[in-house]
Amino acid sequence: KEDPRIAGISSSIRVIPDFPKPGIMFQDITTLLLDPKAFKDTIDLFVERYKDKKISVVAGIEARGFIFGPPIALAIGAKFVPMRKPGKLPGKVISEEYSLEYGTDKIEMHVGAVQDGERALVVDDLIATGGTLCAAIRLLERVGVTVVECACVIELEELKGRVKLGDKPLFVLISST
Ligand code: AMP
Repeated sequence: KEDPRIAGISSSIRVIPDFPKPGIMFQDITTLLLDPKAFKDTIDLFVERYKDKKISVVAGIEARGFIFGPPIALAIGAKFVPMRKPGKLPGKVISEEYSLEYGTDKIEMHVGAVQDGERALVVDDLIATGGTLCAAIRLLERVGVTVVECACVIELEELKGRVKLGDKPLFVLISST
């Protein structure tokens, strides 16, 4: 049975058609952030799930993983590591490329931010094709980190990102078709 908090979270998310381009139904979580109860419930649901999983690092994906990741990290006593778009991090970085509908993109992480043997949770607002999360997982695994799970507020089920993640566990609050 679904947690009673999910309905409120779901109804606080605004869907904007044709943004940023025609055919995309943009899931706008900024309206969730305007609702303190829905925002707190969102963080609480993740914290309840991860507090006893021995997670030492929460890796948040730019940009909206930077909104949900840090409060989860603080509550479970883990560090927060930003996974950023290319050229944003000032120190030495390692990067992973991933493919988009047209062309490729990259995410980067600071060298030394995580250590071999750490246990990570990867956080973003939404999984669509799963390309971004897969790149984040590869980046962390390259430096010896165990990715325990990926967590998103929303999953766009039809895009089959969950399949792309293979046997890597994915936890979402809302599955949208
Ligand atoms: P993907 O790599 O295809 O799983 O895309 C996931 C990334 O793109 C996440 O960082 C999302 O924030 C963003 N994204 C993709 N599709 C949408 C959508 N329909 N609404 C809001 N954000 C989206």
